[in-house]
Amino acid sequence: MFAEVAFNLATGRCFDYAVPEEWPPGKVYPGCRVRASFHGVEQSGYVLKLKETSSYRALPLLAVEDASRQFPPQLLRLADWICHYYCASHECVIWNLLPAVVRKGEMQHREVVYLDLTEKARDPGSDAFRALTPKRQHVLRTLIRLGGSLPLKEALGTVDAGQSVIQALVEEGWLAKSRRVEERDPFRNAIIPRDAPKALTEEQAAALAAVKEALETPRPKPILLHGVTGSGKTEVYLQAIAHCLDQGRNAIVLVPEIALTPQTVFRFRQRFGEQVSVLHSGLTDGQRFDEWTRIAGGRSRIAVGARSALFAPFRNLGLIVVDEEHEATYKQDEMPHYNARDVAVVRGMLESCAVVLGSATPSLESYHNCQQGKYRLVEMKSRVDGHPLPPVEVVDMRLEHSLQKEKGKSSFFSRRLKELIDQTLSRHQQVILFLNRRGYATTLSCSQCGYTASCENCSVTYTYHRKQNKLMCHHCNTMLDAPSRCPDCGNPDIRMGGYGTERVEAVTRAIFPQAMVARMDSDTMTNAESYRKVLESFRGHRIDILIGTQMIAKGLDFPDVTLVGIIQADIGLNLPDFRSAERTFALITQVAGRAGRGQEPGRVVVQTCTPDNYAIASAQRHDYDAFAAQELPGRQALVFPPYAHLVLLQFRHEKEEVASQAAAHFAALLTPLLPPDTQCLGPMPAPLARLVGKFRFQILLRGENVRGIVAACRRGMAALSPAQLRKVPVEVDVDPRFLQ
Ligand code: ADP
Ligand code: ZN
Repeated sequence: MFAEVAFNLATGRCFDYAVPEEWPPGKVYPGCRVRASFHGVEQSGYVLKLKETSSYRALPLLAVEDASRQFPPQLLRLADWICHYYCASHECVIWNLLPAVVRKGEMQHREVVYLDLTEKARDPGSDAFRALTPKRQHVLRTLIRLGGSLPLKEALGTVDAGQSVIQALVEEGWLAKSRRVEERDPFRNAIIPRDAPKALTEEQAAALAAVKEALETPRPKPILLHGVTGSGKTEVYLQAIAHCLDQGRNAIVLVPEIALTPQTVFRFRQRFGEQVSVLHSGLTDGQRFDEWTRIAGGRSRIAVGARSALFAPFRNLGLIVVDEEHEATYKQDEMPHYNARDVAVVRGMLESCAVVLGSATPSLESYHNCQQGKYRLVEMKSRVDGHPLPPVEVVDMRLEHSLQKEKGKSSFFSRRLKELIDQTLSRHQQVILFLNRRGYATTLSCSQCGYTASCENCSVTYTYHRKQNKLMCHHCNTMLDAPSRCPDCGNPDIRMGGYGTERVEAVTRAIFPQAMVARMDSDTMTNAESYRKVLESFRGHRIDILIGTQMIAKGLDFPDVTLVGIIQADIGLNLPDFRSAERTFALITQVAGRAGRGQEPGRVVVQTCTPDNYAIASAQRHDYDAFAAQELPGRQALVFPPYAHLVLLQFRHEKEEVASQAAAHFAALLTPLLPPDTQCLGPMPAPLARLVGKFRFQILLRGENVRGIVAACRRGMAALSPAQLRKVPVEVDVDPRFLQ
C-alpha cells in the first residue's frame, strides 16, 4: 500500500510513501497527518489518498500523528476540486483550509478542576449535614445555591473559606473533584436573550417553503434568494436552519465580514444559543481550536463566519447560507484565489445539501445561473410590515456646482441634502451619510510646479489625513509627515484636492453644530470594540449623523434612520473594470436600503455628476431587473462574465524588466497550449502598475472553457524551472473580482 503525501514545502506536488507492512489496516487514511523523510529531513504532511502501486521507489512512512490534527476526510474532495479549478497545488489548499492552530497541534483542550456536591451534601436538613461546622455548612450551602457544581477556582473566590476546608469536605465525601474539558467560548460572558421565530410574511413563507423543499430533495439546485433590503432574509435563514437541525443535520452561514455584520451574527446567537459557533479573525488560538473541535465533535450545529467558515468540519451538513452573495470579500485575494460563494455551491453538490445565496443585489453571475436554470430564483419584492422602499432623489451635482460658483462658494453638500438633513434633525430622526473614500483630501499638489505627492512604492497618489497631519498610501500603508511647502520648488502654497470622509465629517460639524456627529471608517474604527461602541451610541440616539465608508453600507438595521445621503455616487463608475456599473448599482441600493426600516418612511439623496448613468438611474427606481437587462447585453457583446470566464495571471518583481520578461516568456509558452477560442490580452502592465514596491505585469485570458485554460496554465508552469518560479511566481486568479 502507498500513500500520496502533501508537504507544505512549496514544491507544488505530492510524493509517494510506502505504508509499513506491519501497521494495522486503517492506521493510515486519507486526511491523516503523517511524518516522513523528505530529502533526508523528517517532515509532517497530509495523506491525500492511498493506492496499490507506485511508480517511484517509495520510502516508508515514519509515523502517524495525533488524530486531532487530521484534515477532515469529508473535505478532501472539496480540496481537490479547489486545486483543480483554481489552479493551486494540493499543499497550498490543504494548508489554507485547515486553521493553523489545528494543523500545528500545539493547542490542547483546557482542563479545569470542578467541585461537585455529592449526594449526601444535597440535603441540608440531614443530621450529618447539621453536625458540620458552620464554615463547612456555609461552603455546601453556597454550592447548593449556585447549582451544585463550580470550577474550584471560582468556588474559592466565592465562599468564605480556604483550601483546607474544601479539602476536608472532599476527603469526608461531601464534595467531589473532577477534571473537565472547558471550552473557551468567546460568548461565555455575553448574556443573550433568546428570541422566538417570527410569524412570516407571505413572501418569506414562500421562500422558506422553497428552502425546505431543497432540504427534502437529494440533489437540490442552489437557491438564489433575491430579497430587497429589509425584506427579512435573515428570518428565512433562521427558520430554514431550524428545519435543518430538526432533520438532524448541521448548517453553515457565511457573512461577508464578521466585524461589519454584528447584528446578523447576534441574531443567530439569539435564536440558537450555544449551538452556534462564530468563527472570525478575532478569536484567540485557543478559542479557534475549541470552536473547531466543537464542530468536528458534533457539539456545535451551526457555524457562522466569514469565507473560511465554509470549511467547518461538519459531518452531516444540510444547509449552507451565503448572505450578501455578491460581496467581493468572499474571494480570497491570495493563493488559492477561491470564491467561497462558488465553493459553497460545490460543497453543497458534494455533500448533497441545500445552498441558499441571498442578496438584495445578486451578482450577475448568480442571476445568469438562474436564467440558465442552474439555480432556482426566489424573490421577495417587498419589505416586512409593508414598509415601502425609500424614494430616491438624484441630485445633479454639475448644476449644483455651477450654481455654487455663481454664489462664490463651493460645497459637496447640495442644497437639497442640507435641507433634508435639517428637517430630519428637527424631527429627532437619524441620518447616514455615505462616501466611499476615507481621509481628508485625495491629493496634495503644488500650485506652481505641478508636483503631486505620490507613493514611492505604488503608482497612486497619497491621501492627506488631517488629524495626524500625515500623507498615507491606502495600498501599502506608508505614512509620512505632510509637507508644509513643495518638496520640489519650495513653494509654500500647497493645495488640497478631492475629499474623503474625514473632510465630510469636519464640514458636517460646521454646518450642523447642533448635531452629534460620528464617523465610521477604517481610520476611526481601529478594532471591533470601537465599531460596536459607535453602533450602540447610534442605536441609543447619542449620535444624530453617522458618516462612513462602505463599512456602514452592510446589514445595518436602525429603525430611526430616515435619511440616507450618498455624497458622491459615481466614485466607482469610472474605474477601468467591467464590474464598475454593477458595483455602483449594488452599493447605492445597499446604502439606500438603510433608510426607512422602521415606522417612519425614509428618504435617500444620491448626489452625482452622472445622473443619467443607467446604474444610478435603475438604483433610483430600486429596479434590479432593469439594471441587469441593460448590463447583460454589453457583457455578452464584449465576452465578459457571466458569458465567459476570466483567468488573470500576474507577474511581480521589484525590477520592472524582470517582471515584464517573466510575463513575456510565459505568454510565449502558454499561447500554443490554450484551448481554441481563448482570447489572450497582454502581457501588459497592470492598471496599478506598481504596488508595495513591486512592478506588476499581467496576462488576461478569456474564454468559456475555464478548465482547459487552467490546464494550459498548469502545463505552462510545469515547463518553468523551479528557479524561475521562485524568482517570479505565476499568480493565477481564476474568476478574478478585480482586474487591477
Ligand atoms: P434583510 O436582510 O432582507 O435586509 P432583515 O432580515 O434585516 O432584512 O429584516 C429586517 C427587519 O425586519 C429586522 O429588524 C427583522 O427583525 C424584521 N423582520 C423580519 N421578518 C419579520 C417578520 N416576519 N415579522 C416582523 N418583523 C420581521
Ligand atoms: Zn504605497
